[in-house]
Amino acid sequence: MQVMLSVLVVVAVGAASADHGTVSVRESELRELAATLTSPAFKGRYTGTTAYSNCAKWVASKFREWGVEPAVKGQYLQPFPAPHTIVKEMALDLYLPDASAGSDRVVALRPGADFLPLLFTDSGDKTAPVAFVGWGVDAPELGYSDYADIDVTNRFVLCIRGLPDYADQRFWRHDYHIARMATARRRGAAGLVYLSDSVAANPNGQLIPGFLSAAISTPAANELLRLAGEDCAGLREKLEQSGRPNSFLIDAQMHLHVAADYYADGRGYNVIGLIRGSESELENECVVVCAHLDACGTHGGLTFWGALDNASGSAVVMSTAHELAQMTTRPRRSILFVLFGGEEMGLLGSRHFVDHLPPPFRKVTCMINIDTVGWGAATDVLFHSEFPWLGATAKAADEGKDVLRHFWPSNQVTPRSSDFGPFLAKRIPYINFFATDHYAHYHQTGDKAENIDFPHLLKLTDVISTVVRQLANID
Ligand SMILES: [Zn+2]
Repeated sequence: MQVMLSVLVVVAVGAASADHGTVSVRESELRELAATLTSPAFKGRYTGTTAYSNCAKWVASKFREWGVEPAVKGQYLQPFPAPHTIVKEMALDLYLPDASAGSDRVVALRPGADFLPLLFTDSGDKTAPVAFVGWGVDAPELGYSDYADIDVTNRFVLCIRGLPDYADQRFWRHDYHIARMATARRRGAAGLVYLSDSVAANPNGQLIPGFLSAAISTPAANELLRLAGEDCAGLREKLEQSGRPNSFLIDAQMHLHVAADYYADGRGYNVIGLIRGSESELENECVVVCAHLDACGTHGGLTFWGALDNASGSAVVMSTAHELAQMTTRPRRSILFVLFGGEEMGLLGSRHFVDHLPPPFRKVTCMINIDTVGWGAATDVLFHSEFPWLGATAKAADEGKDVLRHFWPSNQVTPRSSDFGPFLAKRIPYINFFATDHYAHYHQTGDKAENIDFPHLLKLTDVISTVVRQLANID
């Protein structure tokens, strides 16, 4: 009920907005949907929480209202396991030796601005010396180790997220957070701290008992690195250019405090709506139009609203479902509209979905994914390189609209793949829409609906709607 009230309020605000002149019905719908998804009631849509479940139920209620059928045994919600951690308290202090003062200089970092715990860290309170370990990669099988000549026992290890050679796919398995944490733990480290250009919320990993993890900003990291005559940019350049490890101890201490609750039995949901196809020979086939609904939640008083990532894509999927539910002629093939949970935790919802297609569906003709759109100059398109008709269909739909910029064919699953990854792994044709330009508020508290370019999102929704209708009708 509370949710319905907030929707009404949002409608009024959208209609009264003078900044955008006359707003079409569909643009105001996109605005309302994004505003509701990012409203305080849903607390940043963290998979496994009550707030996320309420959000999933709200999406289902919209599907029902619009005449989009439930797909799973009469249910819109498809549950899956979603163990997760909520951070309640966080603090990070640097103790920097100061010869002139004869004592340590203490720098208390600001939560959300200078540092964040990784959102799968264990709780703990540790003060320990620091070491820099390059990319944090230990790959003796490839003749490379950032840990070869250094003892990091009971130290916090600082590292940059990256690889000595990204072109060499054999390194990719070392680029997952889980792998990097496990390596640091095996080497005896007290915890792992990423050096980040910007501090971003990150729930994509697994709790390791007794192990702490965090990310700190470049300026904060440079306070430490300066003691060794280095800085982040210089170290990254050296690592990239030499292709060799460059690890060293730092004469400073770090204090990291995290109080977090771990929910091993958390349960997440995908929301699945259906528009039934007309051809009985194709009754086992479907086109999947999807976006991840989840974001990074609320931790220690900081809410990661997840507006561009990915209330924007969720709004596009919902609005397209609303539009296509009103078609008088049914598409030849069924269309499943799916809002995935658990994407930010490591593609939990999409992995579950591809292994548990709702009956009678056995074949996904193609999946159309929308993740982080409505920002910057344009939208880019990534699509399965073995199915060039995907790119061609999008290009044709964009004719005269000009919202799509680059077309990237790819058939490789990488550690940075979004929800299309599990589909690609099964060789299902996929096409993925995402913002051309780097998003400044990525996984930060500033990712708010006001940053979404709704006129662009409107045009993009039209293009995607055309793509969906064509793909649902192809031979
Ligand atoms: Zn995303």
